[in-house]
Amino acid sequence: MTNKVGLIGFPVEHSISPAMHNAAFKHLGMDWAYDAMAIPPDILKYGIREPMQHGYIGLNVTIPHKEAVMRLVTPDAIARAVGAINTIDFRTNTGTNTDVQGLIDDLKAYHIPLKEETVLVLGAGGAARAAVYGLVREGARVIVVNRTLQKAQVMLADLTISAGIRGVDAMTLDEAVEHAPSLIINCTSAGLYPKIDDSPWVDGVPFPKNITVYDMIYRPQKTKFMTQAENAGGRAIGGLGMLVRQGALSFKLWTGVDAPLETMFATALIELALKG
Ligand code: NAP
Repeated sequence: MTNKVGLIGFPVEHSISPAMHNAAFKHLGMDWAYDAMAIPPDILKYGIREPMQHGYIGLNVTIPHKEAVMRLVTPDAIARAVGAINTIDFRTNTGTNTDVQGLIDDLKAYHIPLKEETVLVLGAGGAARAAVYGLVREGARVIVVNRTLQKAQVMLADLTISAGIRGVDAMTLDEAVEHAPSLIINCTSAGLYPKIDDSPWVDGVPFPKNITVYDMIYRPQKTKFMTQAENAGGRAIGGLGMLVRQGALSFKLWTGVDAPLETMFATALIELALKG
């Protein structure tokens, strides 16, 4: 019998995860299938229970359910720290968050040093929270910048309570660049399709020269923020690798098999080209 996994979210039509996972199963000759289910927030409890009762092994969870499913399955330490679940395993009724390791794995794949490096995290939403947690665990000195400074302060207070994270400051962009970061990670949605002319970089603050930036956005694959970094002599990396790697970690969790990364990357690229 085919092993079933899937994605719940609302909406889910734009997700490239089904194609990525199904290509991986096919590549390895595995009798598994991944499908996407659009579940409105008011029926989330039912939306989790139904696939479980129909024999699904696990689920990916996307917007807007990542926080709400924390109440429906048991979150592991990473999910508790991040305050959000993106992968459920029904065999153990647990949830984890593979965004944290997906980001760190991708930064390492690009040989970006993290230990004792000063890293600016732009944003204070779920993605920023995952980044701060992962980077601190890797020994980076992290500074958070968000257009609403108070939200960054609340996020850091939450991380102190949920994961014992301390020593991370929130400040304005012009203050933060004075700390000479070697890496800046955009965890905001500024520049995300269709608003491709937006950037999280504040006008009037000079872009640091010759540094590395990582933009979690992968639609478009080259954002305005990345172009700004390159124009200042820096190196710019987009978020597709993080997307593929967080998926590969879910794949491994469900199947126990190492994901075929190249197949997943190639499929993700094709899907993005097809879906725009
Ligand atoms: P979120 O919770 O909605 O947070 C959005 C953040 O962006 C907030 O800090 C917000 O600032 C900031 N922001 C929005 N528009 C802005 C603008 N025009 N200028 C400056 N800041 C702006 O979203 P999220 O879930 O954290 O996701 C953030 C981004 O990461 C999205 O683009 C998402 O697609 C991407 N992401 C990628 C991956 C991957 O695998 N590559 C994984 C997760 C997320 P305020 O607090 O001031 O509103």
